[in-house]
Amino acid sequence: MKKSLFFAVFVTLCYSVSAQFYTTQNRPNAIRLFNKNVSRTEIILPKIDGYTLYKADFHTHTIYSDGDVTPRERVREAWYDGLDIIAITDHLEIRTYEKFMLKALAPYSKDGSAFRYAHAGIANKQNNEAPVLSNLNAAYEEAVYYAERENLPIMVVRGTEIWRNPSKIGEYNALFLQDINAICHADLFESFRRVKEQGGLIMHNHPGWSRKTAEIAEGEQQRAYDEGWIDGVEIINSTSLYPTVARRCIEKGLFMAANTDAHRPTAQVYNGTNEFFRTMTFIMAKECSEKSIKEALKERRTIGYSGNHLVGEERYLSAFINAAITCHVVAENDKQRTYSFANNCSVPFMLQYKNNVYKLAPFKTLNFNFPKESKDKKNIQPQFVVQNMWHIDEQHPKVTISVDK
Ligand SMILES: [Zn+2]
Repeated sequence: MKKSLFFAVFVTLCYSVSAQFYTTQNRPNAIRLFNKNVSRTEIILPKIDGYTLYKADFHTHTIYSDGDVTPRERVREAWYDGLDIIAITDHLEIRTYEKFMLKALAPYSKDGSAFRYAHAGIANKQNNEAPVLSNLNAAYEEAVYYAERENLPIMVVRGTEIWRNPSKIGEYNALFLQDINAICHADLFESFRRVKEQGGLIMHNHPGWSRKTAEIAEGEQQRAYDEGWIDGVEIINSTSLYPTVARRCIEKGLFMAANTDAHRPTAQVYNGTNEFFRTMTFIMAKECSEKSIKEALKERRTIGYSGNHLVGEERYLSAFINAAITCHVVAENDKQRTYSFANNCSVPFMLQYKNNVYKLAPFKTLNFNFPKESKDKKNIQPQFVVQNMWHIDEQHPKVTISVDK
């Protein structure tokens, strides 16, 4: 009797423990082994000068050009990855997957053969008045439809990548367009003119890709800069930083962007262990509206992020770390002061003092001693070279951390 009571209690206990991990509710013939709801990664960033930092990726591809995922998957993935803004920027000229789609539609053609593969690129290059061979707005429309249907608070930007000779002319993303079909033209500058007519912005993509240098190429690329068509440059594309571009952006008044240029699912490219996030651009803006984000880009209030590296103008990098870190004096004697540095954001800081580098991880506090001046015992302001921040000419900024702000 005692034994069976013990057994009953034991079984009840086991069941109540295991019930936390799986359930048979609503599925009489199946045991659900785990709850499949996956949560969004929240990336906590500081506010700078009253601006919120919005997280954007201005360069992605879908199966509407040569990407491997649908527009709706790009939106869902952006939400899981912690973004606020995503631009779907399928190529005007490269539409690899169209032929597969048209093959699938073959039974609907008159004679049952596959529809002719309408390659917009060749047509664009051959005809001055290039015809629109497919609805180039379709990927954007699908992405917006899906974001609205699923109540995903992701701002989708209508964009496209204008693809020309990569080593001589380069690639350019047109962003914030009204109608992608209307910008098709064999002449690059006529396309640019149409982008601007629609109120769009032009970003020079991966300036060093497929080339020996990231410097401005002679000819049409030089002309694009000289005539003021370019609004911003991709200083980081995926995992590649083009350090010489920072000086160009500052001198010519262009925004710096960091984007994935994702063709595959981002989970296959970026680390899944939460040590860092996908490549993205932080934008300092009043609100997450098209007007406000465009204004911020025109005023160049951006910081590029990739693999826990931050790239931008020195004043923004300094403002970022000072807004992210709270610093207090915790102890003091004749020789030194001990400061505590608390990192209140999701990005770590690699702080170099003399020859040592200290990692201040997200949401952690580090205590650090700064010696006083040997002559008059004056306090030295806490100052570090931040190894994971980059501004002009491959330099890491030397940042003074404000105390008790
Ligand atoms: Zn691209």
